[in-house]
Amino acid sequence: MITTRLTEEARQRHGLSYVATAALGRTMASGLLLASSMKREEARVNIRVKGNGPLGGVMVDAGANGTVRGYVDNPEIELPPNERGKLDVGGAVGREGYLYVVRDMGYGYPYSSTVQLVSGEIGDDITHYLVRSEQTPSALIVGVFVGAEGVTAAGGVLIQVLPKAANDEALVEKLESRLGALAGFTPLLQAGKSLHQIFEDLLGDEGLQIFPETQMLHFHCGCSFDRVLGALKILGETELQDMIAKDEGAEATCHFCAEVYKANEQQLQELIDELRVEKAHS
Ligand code: ZN
Repeated sequence: MITTRLTEEARQRHGLSYVATAALGRTMASGLLLASSMKREEARVNIRVKGNGPLGGVMVDAGANGTVRGYVDNPEIELPPNERGKLDVGGAVGREGYLYVVRDMGYGYPYSSTVQLVSGEIGDDITHYLVRSEQTPSALIVGVFVGAEGVTAAGGVLIQVLPKAANDEALVEKLESRLGALAGFTPLLQAGKSLHQIFEDLLGDEGLQIFPETQMLHFHCGCSFDRVLGALKILGETELQDMIAKDEGAEATCHFCAEVYKANEQQLQELIDELRVEKAHS
């Protein structure tokens, strides 16, 4: 899965630092990978990472339809590279804390699960969640490369062993060792390898069949000016009058996509008028 463009959009929208771009980008790729394994257009996955590092929480909402949105609490936090010369995502997120995953099929109760963080590097933590919580032998790698000109490569691979093969320890070990030997996902993308080639290199000799399945992925948020007006209206007349008197309007920023919505005095007055009409009729 290649998520370069949507990760760059998130970076620009939220004004993310290098390390924040990597943390959110890895989490968005993980969310999309988990959602895509759910095989239902309406299915969504929410991932919340709450570590003890300076970045604060990371929140991602991803859908099987290829849409994703997300944010981090402290987008401007920057850290020096770690001992391997990479962006210190584990240090920013924190190595202690929790990973919360909610899978919503679009009907019935959502399935939620919590595991402790392993390293705060996101990829390890999601893999641990899959093994611990879903008991599926899985290997996941996610990566983001961000340079001075923005995000130049981002994406990930999720390999899950089907129940029938899960007892084949030799196969599971072989997969793990091959994934472990990869220097990372983004260097392969940067070297110009296609997803097809990456899978072929990893699993080609296992008689792997690759179905060409392509899906457009987007950064997308369902917020709108109408929803903001709806939320303002719930505050009630007194609060709205106060906003008109003190601020000559109202401004709201969406957490998920950083879109700024401004309501002017006249629009607030219309909300007050609506509230009065509704009151008169109730
Ligand atoms: Zn939004």
